[in-house]
Amino acid sequence: MTARIVLATRNPGKLREFRALLSASPQLQGRDLDAEVIDAATAGCPDVPETGISFEENSLLKARAVAAQTGLPAVADDSGLAVEVLGGAPGIFSARWAGARASDEANLRLLLEQLADIAPAHRSAAFVCVASLVIPDAQGGPLREFTTTGRLEGTLLREPQGLGGFGYDPILQPAGETRSTAELSMQEKNAISHRGKAFAALREHVVEALGA
Ligand code: IMP
Repeated sequence: MTARIVLATRNPGKLREFRALLSASPQLQGRDLDAEVIDAATAGCPDVPETGISFEENSLLKARAVAAQTGLPAVADDSGLAVEVLGGAPGIFSARWAGARASDEANLRLLLEQLADIAPAHRSAAFVCVASLVIPDAQGGPLREFTTTGRLEGTLLREPQGLGGFGYDPILQPAGETRSTAELSMQEKNAISHRGKAFAALREHVVEALGA
């Protein structure tokens, strides 16, 4: 296998987005990124429990675990919704705000209920993503680590709008937009998204790790 880097995710959408971002790099033209950039399942890595208490900790612990298991450079991300009036919650609890196995719809409904009395001027929120790259040494210990943060700032709507996206997309209206993130095309969202920004900020280090 010619894989040179592992993305610590089981989400095929994230892998596609990450490869697309890398394929725009002049240094990586002509490289077979489908073979060189693989996900954790393809690399045979078990799921890593997210036991950290911040996006950064969770992102780093996933990248460190996959780098140690594979001996290859590993990239991971952790993300969520941070609501200003809630002091940054749901934050790392975004996926399970309404309970351990809660659906996206249940999480979003609970949040809307909690914010029912909050006026538009105080409904600021952001999608936040922390991306990490861990480059292991020959013994599998971490040699170099990088983390980057991306944010997509906006306002929370009172009712869900739009059918695209996932998670809290139907209730976040990006600053300067009249649509929710669930109404943006995938390309439009990727161009401004927290994950797109965090991955983009990591790109030069990833390109270097790929030996380009
Ligand atoms: P993860 O980092 O992929 O585990 O995402 C954690 C949770 O944050 C998701 O389950 C969603 O609830 C929320 N989230 C993260 N990114 C987005 C986004 O781009 N749109 C909507 N919700 C998101």
